[in-house]
Amino acid sequence: MEDKSVVCSFCGRSKQETDVLIAGTTGHICNLCINQAHEIISEEMQQQTNALLAEKLTLLKPIEIKDHLDQFVIGQDHAKKVLAVAVYNHYKRILQQSEKNQDVDIEKSNIMLVGKTGTGKTLLARSIAKMLNVPFTIVDATVLTEAGYVGEDVEGILSRLLQACDFDVELAERGIVFIDEIDKIARKSDNPSITRDVSGEGVQQAMLKLLEGATVNVPPQGGRKHPDQKYIKVDTKNILFICGGAFDGIERHIRHRMNTHALGFGNSSDLRVDDANLLQYVSPQDVKRFGIIPELIGRLPVVTHLNPLDRSALRNILTEPKNAIIKQYRRLFEIDKIILKVEDEVYDFIVDKAEEFQLGARGLRSICEALMVDAMFELPSSDANEFVLTLDYAQSKLTHTNLGKLRAVS
Ligand code: ADP
Repeated sequence: MEDKSVVCSFCGRSKQETDVLIAGTTGHICNLCINQAHEIISEEMQQQTNALLAEKLTLLKPIEIKDHLDQFVIGQDHAKKVLAVAVYNHYKRILQQSEKNQDVDIEKSNIMLVGKTGTGKTLLARSIAKMLNVPFTIVDATVLTEAGYVGEDVEGILSRLLQACDFDVELAERGIVFIDEIDKIARKSDNPSITRDVSGEGVQQAMLKLLEGATVNVPPQGGRKHPDQKYIKVDTKNILFICGGAFDGIERHIRHRMNTHALGFGNSSDLRVDDANLLQYVSPQDVKRFGIIPELIGRLPVVTHLNPLDRSALRNILTEPKNAIIKQYRRLFEIDKIILKVEDEVYDFIVDKAEEFQLGARGLRSICEALMVDAMFELPSSDANEFVLTLDYAQSKLTHTNLGKLRAVS
């Protein structure tokens, strides 16, 4: 016989009036009260995260955001400024959603970064996420395919974001996703395709709802290898998407557009075009001609460029940022109580080699590794307390290493 006297200690409902009544040591709780308590907790947590974010934003105005980025990223002043404003507005938008009386609906400011490989696109996105202490993930657009085809569904992007914050959905819903190589999913021509283009236009179509903001069913493991896994619902409304791509050859479209305009306005000599760095004039129109569909461009309203890195920028990258490559080696040697000294000419030599192999900033690290590996192998077992990296030594190490290997890194 059921005990009729058992009631929920919170709302007083009897067992018959509820679906589930859970017994505790001194009382009971029904499913309705559990749901209500869950809602209260979620709301409370949301307010707490909002308060934290608000606190951060009062400390970090766009100028401070840029100052912060300056510590990690060399040059790229324009991109930093545009990003700082976009990120600041993005999080202001999130905060105002919780306020009543919203008469103006602020739209999302997802960002498109156009710049050659190794110029700092990923580094910028990563540095912003770190500064705001929000979950961050990087995905490569080339592995994505339209649902149902071999490859990763776009929802997999969110699985990675969830993994980055230990499946805390609320945190993930305010995270930042960096989608790299977005240019590789360009459709093959400026016209809509007649045949199916599952890894290009198809993926762009699939990404639309994600970028705009929708509740998406996310497989926790990503992929379709676990058909019976439970889906997690993630709302992408407040996730900031930053897309990056090298857009090799986009200069052609930029030049074409600018020439057409110059003709239209008569005197083309008034327009002093810096032909060596056409990317600085990139506009959504050029990105469209490159093969990104207009709907996707519409969801990435902030378009900015990164400049190619010149010699002095490359040299600065070696020594200036907070976690500069040389500082990292210095620290590694320091742990073995060895002082690392680098002769000035060695920096120029490293930059020369990076330029020679057209590796840009990405090559700096592999060149340094080639220079240091013997010393890092031998010195910890010796009684040396100093290692001076001279130009002679650097030259001898690079001729002995397989230079072809460096060329392969990109
Ligand atoms: P990409 O533009 O291809 O995303 P990354 O941001 O991944 O390039 O850069 C590759 C590496 O090169 C970074 O980890 C960083 O060490 C270095 N690097 C590139 N650009 C810069 C920069 N502007 N300032 C400092 N380091 C940079």
